[in-house]
Amino acid sequence: MAAAVEAGYTDPSADITVYERMDRVGKKLLATGNGRCNYTNLNADVRNYYGRMPSFVKSALERYGINDTVNFFNNIGVFPREEERGKLYPFSGQASAVLDALRNELARLGVNIVNADICSVSKTKKGFRLTDRAGSGYFCGRLIIAAGGCASPSLGSNGSGFDLLRSLGHHITELHPALVQLKTPTDEVKSLQGIKTEGMLTLLSENKVLGSDSGEILFTDYGLSGPPVFNLSVFAAGRKGLTAAIDLMSEYPLRNVYDILENRAQALSHLTMESYFTGLVNKRIGNIIARRAGIEKLSLPVKALDKELLWKMASLIKQLSFEVTGTKGFANAQVTAGGVFTSEFSPDTMESKLCSGLYCAGEIYDIYGDCGGYNLQWAWSSGRLAGRCAAEK
Ligand SMILES: Cc1cc2nc3c(=O)[nH]c(=O)nc-3n(C[C@H](O)[C@H](O)[C@H](O)COP(=O)(O)OP(=O)(O)OC[C@H]3O[C@@H](n4cnc5c(N)ncnc54)[C@H](O)[C@@H]3O)c2cc1C
Repeated sequence: MAAAVEAGYTDPSADITVYERMDRVGKKLLATGNGRCNYTNLNADVRNYYGRMPSFVKSALERYGINDTVNFFNNIGVFPREEERGKLYPFSGQASAVLDALRNELARLGVNIVNADICSVSKTKKGFRLTDRAGSGYFCGRLIIAAGGCASPSLGSNGSGFDLLRSLGHHITELHPALVQLKTPTDEVKSLQGIKTEGMLTLLSENKVLGSDSGEILFTDYGLSGPPVFNLSVFAAGRKGLTAAIDLMSEYPLRNVYDILENRAQALSHLTMESYFTGLVNKRIGNIIARRAGIEKLSLPVKALDKELLWKMASLIKQLSFEVTGTKGFANAQVTAGGVFTSEFSPDTMESKLCSGLYCAGEIYDIYGDCGGYNLQWAWSSGRLAGRCAAEK
C-alpha cells in the first residue's frame, strides 16, 4: 500500500493497481502491535535488521527514514504516540487508524484495488502478465511484489510471492519462522504458565552465547514468549541443542545475589521455603529454583539453608535454564527469516537486477528486523522507494 501511495505521489497520472488475495487489503496491519500497530521505531537503523546482507536496508532507510515515516503518516492523519524504547503507535491506540489512513489515501490518489490471488506471472516485452486463481488475466508495465513472507498466513501472506519470484528467475533462501515463541519441554514450564517476569534472556548453543536480550518474558504451556524471546528466536531457526537461560536479577552480579539470599535467610529464618522467595521472584519460579537446588520439600525451614544451597539458588537466579526444543511455526510467527536474495536487487531502487521493471518491497526480501516497529519501518521504507522508482521509470 505504501508503495502504491508513493507511486501516486510521484506520478499522479500513473494507472496504479493493488492486487490483494484477501477480501480486503492490509489485514495483517490490524493484528500488529497487539491491535495498536507499532508502526515504526525512533531508533531504527541498519543494526536492527538481519539477513544474509543486512546492509541492503541502508539506502532505503536513508531515503525514507523515521522522520519521513512520521511525517508521511501525520500527513494522512496518523498522529504519533511514543512509548518505551522508541516505539511509535497511532495516538488513538488503534491499528485500524493506520490501515484506514492508507486506504483513504489510496482512494484519494485514484489507486485501483482488485481482489485477485495472483498465481502466475510472466515477463513480456512491454511489462508483466499476471493471472489469478480464478483465471483472470492482468497486465502491468512495472510490477512491485510486496506479498510478504510465510508468517501468519491466515492474514494473507502465504508464501505465494516466492513462487512468483522464482518463476521470474529469482532465488529464495531457506525460510524460517522468526519473532516467534520458543518451545521447551513442558513438564516444568506448564507449572509456570501465565507468569510474566522481567529478565535477561540468553540463548546458548553448547555454552556459546548466540544472543541476549532483556524485557518481559512470558511462560506458556509450550515454552517461552515475550519480546526478548521473539528477538532471539531467529537464532533457534533450524538449530538443535539450544538452551534458553533467564537471568532473573540481571541488575545484580552473582556475588550480590548470594548476599541478598543470605540476608533473607537470616531475616526470614522463622519461615519455610514456601515463603522464602516471596517479594524477590515470583513464588512459582521460586519453587522451581528451590527444587532445582535440591530442596525436595518446601516445608524445609529457611534456617536450614546452608552456604552451598544459597550459592546454588543464587546461580539459578542468575541462570535459570530451559532446553529449547524448537520454535512455534509460521502460523504463530510475526515475520519470516529468509526471503528473496537481496543481492539480486538494487538497494538504491529496489529494482531487480535480473528482470527489468520488477521491484520488491517489505518482508519478501531476505531481511527482517527486531521486534518493536522495525519490520513495518522496513516495509514503509522499501515500499516507498520501490513505488517512487517504479513510477519514475
Ligand atoms: C501478529 C503480528 C504482529 C506484528 N506486529 C508488528 C508491529 O507491531 N510492528 C512491526 O513493525 N511489525 C509487526 N509485525 C510484522 C509486520 O506486520 C510485517 O513485517 C509487515 O506487515 C510486512 O509487510 P509486507 O507489506 O511486506 O507484507 P504483508 O503485510 O504480509 O502484506 C502482504 C500482502 O500481500 C498479499 N498477498 C500475498 N500473496 C499474494 C498473492 N499471490 N496475490 C495477491 N495478494 C497477495 C497478502 O494478502 C497481504 O495483504 C507483525 C506481524 C504479525 C503477524
